[in-house]
Amino acid sequence: GSAPKQFKATLFPGDGIGPEISEAVVKILHAAKCPIEWETHIIDVRSKKPGEMLVSREALDSVLRNGWGLKGPMETPIGKGHRSLNLTLRKELALYANVRPCLSFPGVKTLYENVDVVTVRENTEGEYSGLEHVVSPGIVKSLKVITRDASMRINEFAFKYARNNGRKKVTVVHKATVMKKSDGLFLKCSREVAKNYPDIEFEELLIDNASSFLVSNPSRMDVMVMPNLYGDIISDLCAGLIGGLGLTPSCNIGENCVLAEAVHGTAPDISGKNLANPTALLFSAIMMLREMGLREQASSIESSVFRVLSEGKIRTGDLGGKSSTTEYTQAIIDNLN
Ligand code: NAD
Repeated sequence: GSAPKQFKATLFPGDGIGPEISEAVVKILHAAKCPIEWETHIIDVRSKKPGEMLVSREALDSVLRNGWGLKGPMETPIGKGHRSLNLTLRKELALYANVRPCLSFPGVKTLYENVDVVTVRENTEGEYSGLEHVVSPGIVKSLKVITRDASMRINEFAFKYARNNGRKKVTVVHKATVMKKSDGLFLKCSREVAKNYPDIEFEELLIDNASSFLVSNPSRMDVMVMPNLYGDIISDLCAGLIGGLGLTPSCNIGENCVLAEAVHGTAPDISGKNLANPTALLFSAIMMLREMGLREQASSIESSVFRVLSEGKIRTGDLGGKSSTTEYTQAIIDNLN
């Protein structure tokens, strides 16, 4: 047979706890025999002058060349006139979809059990088009832009994701009853794409209705696809269902690349102390592995984390334990099969 495929991926360790959790993730992936060679880029946000691009061209090109990237949390300098880092990445890498699977972790007590939902958020337009202006003092206008191209692309992605990941249903979350033209177009695209996926159940829900269902009975939901603003809010709501942002992975899908990243920040209060929980970044990496087709490795790491967490002996402080990042990392490695 042919030699197993080798991957090259760009690693942005990030700031604060970023380097510690990145190191943990790289170690675990290596132990699970993922054929990935990392190209590390340090983005030194603090050294940048106001107005300067936070991510270098070289770093962006590295992700585009490799097609794969894993990003630790990065400090956002406040009020220094930098173009937002995430916005830069989103734009330069054409990251059109943000995907967040929210899965209940065994042994992690939260209000809900058996949550297993995925949000797919349109990431380029809608309410976040950045088109706002003052009409006259006391009156502002904000434009919500919905295009057929972007709506077809995100719906196509959501259904394909559902099919490739053994999901049963896609729910489009909208408010086309009020936003007749904009959400109306988005919904029309969902319906059109749904026709090509007879194996996937299709459902339409108003955003208000969907919110109510999510807090009363989250297990009725499967994959949800939404325009930008709804996706922003609903994806955080779903993270709350499984115990917060600290456990939630995410993956950004671009035209020509995939950038996985945890949802949480740099946790300055615990950084450099070997206390951080690498689970969110690890599960983001697992999403990348699945996109790469490295399904066996992905499942093996996932099962190992579930085993360690449900045993409950080795946990980091955020989950009520006393273990260090390195102890937890080692436990995951020891439990790989
Ligand atoms: P945060 O997520 O860094 O921290 C919030 C709380 O959660 C803290 O108590 C922290 O200790 C805890 N926490 C977060 N991740 C954890 C982990 N992996 N393990 C254990 N505990 C964890 O949010 P913040 O304090 O609002 O932001 C700090 C910095 O991070 C800011 O500069 C912010 O701009 C940046 N940030 C970056 C990203 C990103 O790069 N994607 C996202 C959010 C915030």
